[in-house]
Amino acid sequence: KMGRKFVVGGNWKMNGSKQQVTEILKFLEAGPLNSETEVIVGVPAIYLDFVKSKIPPNVEVAAQNCYKVEKGAFTGEISPSMLRDIGINWVILGHSERRQIFGETDELIADKVAFALQNGLKVIACIGETLEERESGKTEEVVFRQTKALANKIENWKNVVIAYEPVWAIGTGKTATPQQAQQVHKALRDYISKTVSPDVAENTRIQYGGSVTGANCDELGSQPDIDGFLVGGASLKPEFVKIVNARH
Ligand code: PEP
Repeated sequence: KMGRKFVVGGNWKMNGSKQQVTEILKFLEAGPLNSETEVIVGVPAIYLDFVKSKIPPNVEVAAQNCYKVEKGAFTGEISPSMLRDIGINWVILGHSERRQIFGETDELIADKVAFALQNGLKVIACIGETLEERESGKTEEVVFRQTKALANKIENWKNVVIAYEPVWAIGTGKTATPQQAQQVHKALRDYISKTVSPDVAENTRIQYGGSVTGANCDELGSQPDIDGFLVGGASLKPEFVKIVNARH
């Protein structure tokens, strides 16, 4: 992982209130957060401006979604340029909850990723297999297909982070073992090397996500192809600081 800066994202999902957000900001402020690690929190759209105005400068703020068009008749959506307008530089796209609950396809997600990048956002693009897919031996087929859909539309990978999040590990307390995660991360890097370029494969950070906690982050973070985490539940708790500071 020489040269790849460790990157830890928090995904608050649809959680929080002004009061809870204020509590989270307190533990982020107190840290201390390893300055060698890039830290990003994914905030519900309605709190983005509030969080951005209060967050310490060493923590970046991400939206959890945005649309593939700049403006217009798309009720309920927000655009990359609106995010840029309020000083937001990151967006999480393609989370498994967006895919499964809201029916987002590989194609739509790739369009959103490409449009967000064109508009100057940095993107955490999420991929991962379901339990059924893993048990039928399709893990690589699925994550390669999801990656290919992205690769077809990404022109410059500089502002892309991939989050490998096995769906069976998200919010379940069932973490992938460090070996299981490393195996997929390595396979993804080899796949990107072949289908995009060795240089992109070497430089693109791949986060692991799925029930990461203060207790399992060190071992996961020590794997050679794990370049950080995307953290759901634990990102709402002071434990997130420990995850940011995981050994890597
Ligand atoms: C997530 O929402 O991206 C996630 C990994 O959730 P959790 O850490 O709660 O499993």
